[in-house]
Formats: sequence, C-alpha cells, structure tokens
Amino acid sequence: MRYKNKIILILISTLLVSAFLGGCKKEEDKEPLSKTEFMMDTVMTIKLYDKKDEVILDKSFDRIREIEDKMSITIEDSDVSKINKNAGKNPVKVDDEVYEILTRAKYFAELTDGAYEPTIGPLVDLWNIRNEGKNNKHDIPSKEDIEKALNKVDYKKLELLEDNKVFLKEEGMKLDLGGIAKGYAADEIKKILKENGVNSAIVDLGGNIYAVGSKGQDEYWKIGIQNPQEQRGSYVGIIEVKDSSVVTSGDYERYFEVNGKRYHHIIDSKTGYPSDNELSAISIIAKSSTDSDALSTALFVLGREKSKEVLKELEDIEVLYVTKSDNIYISPGIKDRFDLNNNNFDLKINEY
Ligand code: ADP
Ligand code: MG
Repeated sequence: MRYKNKIILILISTLLVSAFLGGCKKEEDKEPLSKTEFMMDTVMTIKLYDKKDEVILDKSFDRIREIEDKMSITIEDSDVSKINKNAGKNPVKVDDEVYEILTRAKYFAELTDGAYEPTIGPLVDLWNIRNEGKNNKHDIPSKEDIEKALNKVDYKKLELLEDNKVFLKEEGMKLDLGGIAKGYAADEIKKILKENGVNSAIVDLGGNIYAVGSKGQDEYWKIGIQNPQEQRGSYVGIIEVKDSSVVTSGDYERYFEVNGKRYHHIIDSKTGYPSDNELSAISIIAKSSTDSDALSTALFVLGREKSKEVLKELEDIEVLYVTKSDNIYISPGIKDRFDLNNNNFDLKINEY
C-alpha cells in the first residue's frame, strides 16, 4: 500500500472509532445511575437520570430503611409494633411521622368506609398470603376464625390522642400499614431527590412508582401497566406521566388458588375474605404517592361503581381499572396519555 493511502486509511479509521466512541458516550449519558435493594419486603429501585450521584442514592435508601424501622410490623421495636403489642392496654407515644401517616391512614379509612382499613392486621395474619402462585397448597381459613379476626378489625377503635399518643382500643387488634407505607416512602424519596437537585428520576418501590420530573428536558415518562394475567414485565399498555406517582394494586401480586379461584392479599374488611369483584387490577395516578397507595388498595376493594362515590370527594386523581373480563376503564383525564398495546383488552372511558 502506498504511504499516502495508508495515512488516509488511518485517518478514516480514527474518525470512525471516535465517531463510535462519541456515540457510546451519548448513550452512556442517557443511562441512569441505578441502585436496587430489598426493603419493606419488596424489591426497590431508584434510577437517577440527572445529577447522577451515588451519595443521593445512598441517602434515599437510608431514608427508606428509617421509615421501615418505624412502620414495619415484623421489626419488634418499631413504633407500629409497639402500638400493636399495647393494644387494649396502653397508649403508645410515637414519632411525628408515624403519627402523621396514621392520621392519613385513618382519613382514608373514614373516606372509604373501611375499604382501606389500617387495622386489617388480624385478617392479614390469618390468611397469611405470600408469593405462592397457582401451585401452592394453602388452606382457606375457617368461618369461625374469620369471624374472630373480623371482630378485631375496626379503624374506629384506632385512637389518635394528643401528644403523639396512639391507642388500639382492644386487645388482639393489629395495625398493618402495608397498603400505604410504600407510597409514603416514595413521597419522601421524591422530596429528597428534589432537595438534592434531581429533576429526572424513577423511584420504583415494589411497583409503587414515582416518576420524578420529566424524562430528559421535557419528555413524558412512559410507565408500563402490568397485565394481571401474565408474567411480570408484560403490559396491557403504557401510561405517560410527568412528576406523578403511579401505584398499582392487583390480585396477581401475592395469591394462592383453590379450585381455580384466586385468593389474593387485599382483604375486604366487610367480609374478611380477599376482595372479590370485577377487578383484577387498578392503577392510581396522582401527585401524592401516599394517597395513591391507600386509594389503590381501597378502590380495588370497592370496585368501579362504589369507587365513584369516593372519587367525587377528591381532586386530580386519575384511575385505570383492569377487569377480569379483559376491559380497561380509564378516567377521562388520562385518555390521551394511555396507549393500549394489547389486543386482548378493550379500552373504555370510565364515565362518572
Ligand atoms: P402491594 O403492597 O402489593 O403494593 P397494596 O398497596 O394494595 O398492594 O397493599 C396490600 C397490603 O396492604 C397487604 O399485603 C396487607 O399488608 C395490607 N392490606 C390488605 N388488605 C388491606 C385493606 N383492605 N386495607 C389496608 N391494607 C390492607
Ligand atoms: Mg396500596
């Protein structure tokens, strides 16, 4: 090869390599800084798309741990465990934020007439539903046991007294904040991220999502809505949001089956059985993830018709229902932001 040609060849390859590297670097810029941990009995991931600073991620997970330490029912010396142990005996003085979340929990219990029920603990223990799926043997509790547990479930007997004191009026009562704590944690993480200058992030606390800010400069985040009949990661469609929480409750998260019937982990406090209506899943889209979490549980129990009464009382709450008969009902406010990508489902607007 002549000398001049060789130089040209080297130049071209250098250009190509640097173009390739340049391309890679751009791709790298788009990649989030991500961290995953198992906390609050679930997998939690935080992805930062700007201000990619490990310290911010660590701070966020420390905060989740702190919330778990106060609100868990499996951690012996958490405030919530102390309240439970002292049920029917003594009021317990709790931390400010525990008092605050209990106030919120009681508000949603009142608003939904106990469909969201923070004292559901005795029934949750009785059913003891974990990630078992179709093929696991699991007994249905007896009617007597369900009756007994039902007698210990009543948010009206959750007393929020002065000076941060909390009292469960009857022995055997038990708080369970599983239907609201992850939402609260998501709100707290969002706060930390904003305080630290993060304007683009996805907080996913076991399916309890906060889409912080926007994607890139001004794009909507695309959040997949899980298909309740399929494996994790299979979607019925995509919802576009900015700076919003998306929280889903469904009958596919934790359940067991007996004779083809699904017994899942969300209990109807009126019957003592897992809720049983037309719904297979529900997603709530709102600014507050605490509210979305409590509402996802409550409206899942209530079903579409009864949910209307509750939604009338609230503002800026969007809902997406997935029914067992393959219909998707969305509230009019998100009709242009939802993209159905599964032909097995029919999309309808949920009229009020
Ligand atoms: P997930 O925790 O799977 O995201 P939810 O937010 O709907 O789903 O919360 C379900 C959890 O809340 C249950 O695992 C249980 O601990 C608790 N729970 C069950 N039924 C109720 C209810 N009716 N009201 C409040 N909490 C409930
Ligand atoms: Mg919930």
